[in-house]
Amino acid sequence: MKIEILAVGTEILMGDIVNTNAQYIAKRLADVGLGIYYQSVVGDNAERMKKAYEIAFNRVDLVIVTGGLGPTKDDLTKEIAADYFNKKLVLDEEAYNYIKEFFLYRNICMTNNNKKQAYFPEGAVILKNNNGTAPGCIIEEEGKILILLPGPPREMIPMLEQQVLPYLSKYQEGVLKSKVLRICGIGESTMEEKIQDIIENQNNPTIAPYAKDGEVTLRITAKASTLREAEDLILPIEEKIGRRLEGYIYGEGETSLEEVIGDLLIKNQLTIATAESCTGGLLSSRLINVPGISSVFMEGVTTYSNASKVQLLKVKDTTLKRYGAVSKETAKEMAIGVAQLGNADIGLSITGIAGPTGGTEEKPVGLIYIGLTIEGKVRVKELFFKGDRQRVRQYAVVQALCWLHRELNNRK
Ligand code: ATP
Repeated sequence: MKIEILAVGTEILMGDIVNTNAQYIAKRLADVGLGIYYQSVVGDNAERMKKAYEIAFNRVDLVIVTGGLGPTKDDLTKEIAADYFNKKLVLDEEAYNYIKEFFLYRNICMTNNNKKQAYFPEGAVILKNNNGTAPGCIIEEEGKILILLPGPPREMIPMLEQQVLPYLSKYQEGVLKSKVLRICGIGESTMEEKIQDIIENQNNPTIAPYAKDGEVTLRITAKASTLREAEDLILPIEEKIGRRLEGYIYGEGETSLEEVIGDLLIKNQLTIATAESCTGGLLSSRLINVPGISSVFMEGVTTYSNASKVQLLKVKDTTLKRYGAVSKETAKEMAIGVAQLGNADIGLSITGIAGPTGGTEEKPVGLIYIGLTIEGKVRVKELFFKGDRQRVRQYAVVQALCWLHRELNNRK
């Protein structure tokens, strides 16, 4: 079964909105082992939409369309589908009653246009929309399948998950199972080097490393006839990788670095305080993402100016004068100072030059110092990141979290 995803909407074509629907659908279909062959986008134009259906059905068996199911005149998806398959549009009473109830329940006046949303190409299977007024539908005709879904992701996603994927399960060839390992404290290329031979000698499961926002992820994907078989293929490879990357794998699936750190802090009953300069609260914000962190997170300060470093963190004037605000010594005193300020077991600090200006030959843009004190023991790391201001700041935070994670993990 070859599949194409066709997004309808001039806003997408012109770049006003990002085609997240295509990304979501593609990912979910790939997850269950269905073959995506093409993705395309067409504006709200009748002629070009019909052409897009023609092109798609010339190269695939199933087309999933999103968008253009709304009540207005430029919402043409169903009309063009009916035309393409030479079918009449007929009123679906159940869908019409549902749309009427939708408005009644919300005490909003229903316009005549909304009745249009209850018309479907004759013989279509209607897909209920529990989050909006535009039902979707499935049209099957002479081996071609067309699935029409609404544009808004909050309507499209539940419809896909609850109705479309179960419908498509009969076309799945085997099962695809993925396991995602989350890794920190090691760069993508170093990690790849460590497991290169495993990656190269494997085709089921496949192993795909990718780096995103300063973190590295490994996806192990197996294809088999049952879920159990797929899991059995993944397990030995996961264990092998686990041994090679010992200490670097912090979690699986959707687990975030801050969640794992939060758990370790809470389990070890260790309190923490953070002091930031160029990251301006990004570090504390990541930690505060974790529900329940209040029992261990004591204080997070942004000490951007030298004066605030002195006043709040008791960084010595002489340190700032002799070594500068971006230095090993300042990072160290910031970490100690914030631990004292927050009466915390751990003090974590970041100071650096995020750019684009402010760098010198000796201290270039991208230079970062991270200070960490745990129960009285203090250390500082010097790091250097290439990239724009946001990237440098983001990477600094990830590295600070990675370091903290390693230290907490090693205490176990
Ligand atoms: P409605 O019933 O809300 O009119 P519709 O099916 O007609 O839905 P569109 O009018 O095409 O959908 O799009 C409505 C909104 O849904 C867009 O403004 C956009 O915010 C979102 N949207 C549409 N298509 C996509 C897409 N491919 N990816 C992400 N968001 C989308």
